[in-house]
Amino acid sequence: MSKKDELEAQGFKTYENEDIQVFWNPKMCQHAAKCVIGNGKVFKVGRRPWVDLSQAPATEIADIIDRCPSKALQYELLNPISIVFEEVLDRSAAYDRGKQIGECEYSPSEKMWIISHTGVDSAYEGKGIARKLVLKVIEAARAKGVKILPVCSYAKKLMAGKEEFKDVL
Ligand code: SF4
Repeated sequence: MSKKDELEAQGFKTYENEDIQVFWNPKMCQHAAKCVIGNGKVFKVGRRPWVDLSQAPATEIADIIDRCPSKALQYELLNPISIVFEEVLDRSAAYDRGKQIGECEYSPSEKMWIISHTGVDSAYEGKGIARKLVLKVIEAARAKGVKILPVCSYAKKLMAGKEEFKDVL
């Protein structure tokens, strides 16, 4: 039996993405708010769903959950490498257990984001991380309705002439 099956049988609800599964049992929650204080974007009371895993790297979410005093929140890390979009820094970034191992940077203007650099630490090459970093920026650009101009050679090669990216080019 997986941890998910086990906890759901005990009344936990599951929130998941490709990097982490988060389990929460409302009956066990003591409303101590350690989770909300830890990161109010991931854990936001009143929002539905109140857990949004896209707001922080999986390892950061796991650290916050470790502080839950009641064990109402639990987790299972599925992938130690997480890819996150960091809008304030104009980039997507890759982390391995909290250590930054790559990034895809862009320069934003009102209607266009210019991807200027994509890089991954040499120890992590060949794992498809650079592609995921560019896709993360594309996903965010789509959501905001802005176009992308890939200047960095990697992003240019990835996107040029591809039907799947036509809408953002
Ligand atoms: S930290 Fe745990 S007990 Fe506190 S509000 Fe969050 S889920 Fe509930």
